[in-house]
Amino acid sequence: MEETEVVVVGSGPTGLLLATELALAGVDVVVLDKLPERRVQAKALNLQPRTAEVLDLRGLLDDARQRAIATVTEGHFARLPVPLSYDGWSARRPYQVGIPQARVEELLEERLADHGIRVRYGHELVGLVQDDTGVTVTVRDPNGHEQPLRAAYLAGCDGGRSTVRKLLGAPFPGTDARAYGVVADVVLGQTSQAVPIRWTSTAKLFAHTAPAGQVTALIPLDEPGHYQLFTIGPDIRPESREAPVSKVELETALRESYGEDAEIAEVRQATRFTDASRQVEQYRVGRVLLAGDAAHIHLLAGAQGMNLGIQDAMNLGWKLAAEVLGRAPAGLLDSYHAERHPVAAEVVENTRAQGLFMFAKDDPGVDALRGLFTKLLALPEVKRYLAGRISGLGIRYPMDGADADAGVSHELLGARMPDMQLADELWAGELLHAGRGVLLSVDSAFVEAARPWSDRVDAVLLPDLPLAGEGADALLVRPDGYVCWTAPAKSGVETALTTWFGTPA
Ligand SMILES: Cc1cc2nc3c(=O)[nH]c(=O)nc-3n(C[C@H](O)[C@H](O)[C@H](O)COP(=O)(O)OP(=O)(O)OC[C@H]3O[C@@H](n4cnc5c(N)ncnc54)[C@H](O)[C@@H]3O)c2cc1C
Repeated sequence: MEETEVVVVGSGPTGLLLATELALAGVDVVVLDKLPERRVQAKALNLQPRTAEVLDLRGLLDDARQRAIATVTEGHFARLPVPLSYDGWSARRPYQVGIPQARVEELLEERLADHGIRVRYGHELVGLVQDDTGVTVTVRDPNGHEQPLRAAYLAGCDGGRSTVRKLLGAPFPGTDARAYGVVADVVLGQTSQAVPIRWTSTAKLFAHTAPAGQVTALIPLDEPGHYQLFTIGPDIRPESREAPVSKVELETALRESYGEDAEIAEVRQATRFTDASRQVEQYRVGRVLLAGDAAHIHLLAGAQGMNLGIQDAMNLGWKLAAEVLGRAPAGLLDSYHAERHPVAAEVVENTRAQGLFMFAKDDPGVDALRGLFTKLLALPEVKRYLAGRISGLGIRYPMDGADADAGVSHELLGARMPDMQLADELWAGELLHAGRGVLLSVDSAFVEAARPWSDRVDAVLLPDLPLAGEGADALLVRPDGYVCWTAPAKSGVETALTTWFGTPA
C-alpha cells in the first residue's frame, strides 16, 4: 500500500497552501483532487489585507500582485454607505489585492511544484477509515480503479460539499439557503453610465437601482468590457441549485440595476450560489482535520471565504508539520480548532447580519436598524473594529498571559506581528519566509536562551523593535506570523519556546 505522511484532499486555495506549508517544513504530502484539471470559475476576487500579509510572509505577495487586476483601498459592511478603510491597523499594505481565485490557485500550485509535488488530478477520495496510528483512504483514479493510500494524518480541504466531512459523519449545523444568487464572467457589448470602469473601492461597485432586497454588482476584470456580474436576493428562485443560468436571466439582472443601455455580448461561464451558512463543530476528528469551505460556508458578503480558508491553512500547516515530525508540544495541534473555529464563527455571524441588512425589504424595523448601524459605523472605533474583523487584521488568538501583565507589549500577544521595517532593506515579515519561528530581541540574553531551539526558531538581535510598544524587549513570533510571547512577561523565554516549539532536540 502506498504511504505518505499527510494526505490533503482538495486543491482549492486552502489545500494548496496547506500542502505548500507542509512541504516547506519537510513533510511528505499527497494532494488529491477529483477534477480532471484545474477549473477556472468565477469565484473569489480578492486577498483581504491579512491574507495578503500571510502570503507575503512566504514571499508570495509580489507574485500575486503581478497577477492582480486591482488595488482596493476600501471594503464595505452590508453595502452601508460608510466604506471600511484599513487605517489604524499598522498594515504595511492597507488594501485588498483584487485577484481572481484561479490565479491564486495557479500561483500556489506553482509554489507546490517547486517542492516537487504535483496535484493528483482525477483522483477522488471515496473512503476513509482511521485508527490510532493513521488514516487509510480509498482513492478512485481516473481509470475508475480504487486504490488504498495510508497516511499519518488527513486534511479535508475539499470544499463546501466535503466528502471527508460526510465520511466522518461530522455535523454541519447552520441555516439553509434563503437567498439565491448567480455569478457570471461576462463581456459587456454595451455599457451604461452606471457601469463601473475601475475597481478601487468595493463599496462603490454595487448598483443602487437593483430591486429592493436584491444585491447586484459588476466587478471590472482585466480586459475592457470584461466583468464579474453577480446578483443575489430572496426573490431569485431557481428550480434547483444546478439549474443552468440563462443569458436572459443575467441580462435582466444587469438591466434592472445598470440601465437599459447595458448589454451582455458574451457569457464565458456562470454558476449559482446561495447564502447557506454552516460550520462544523470540531475542526479535528482524531487524525483528520477540516479546513476552508469543508469546515465553514456562509454568504459571500464582504468577500471573506477564500481568505478564511487560506488563513486556516496557514494556522494549521506548521502545527501539523510539527506533529508529523514528532516535535509538537502537547496541545499544539488542538490549538488549530481552538483558534480558528471562533474566527469563522465570527464570519458566519457578520455575514448573517449583512444578509439581514442587504436582503430585507419593506421592513421598517430593519430600515431603522440599518440607519442606526450606519451612524454607529461612522464612529472611528466601530469602523476600525469591523474593518479589522473583515480584513483579518484584527484577529487575536486567545493566549495565556494575554492580560496577565500590564504593558504595551501585551497588545501584541496573540495578535499578528505588524510588518516592521527593521533595516533599510529588511522587513520583519521577510524573516518568516522559511516558515520557522522567529525571536526578535533587543537583548542578547534572549538570543542566547533560544540557542537550543535553533533547528526550528531563528533568533535575531536588533537595535530596536519598532511597533512593538514601549519597553518590549523581545517578541516570539510563530511561523504563521502571530506573536505568542513578549518580554517582559511573567514566564521566561524558555517556557514560551517549549510551549510553542516543543522540547529542544
Ligand atoms: C460566487 C462566489 C463568489 C465568491 N467570492 C469570494 C470573494 O470575493 N472572496 C472570498 O474570500 N471568497 C469568495 N468566495 C468563496 C471562495 O470561493 C471559497 O471560500 C473558496 O473556494 C474555498 O476554498 P477551499 O480550498 O476551501 O475549497 P474549494 O475551492 O471548494 O476547493 C475544494 C477542492 O476539493 C476538491 N474535491 C472535492 N471533493 C473531493 C474528493 N472527494 N476527492 C478529491 N477532491 C475533492 C474539489 O474538486 C475542489 O477542487 C466566493 C464563492 C462564490 C461561490
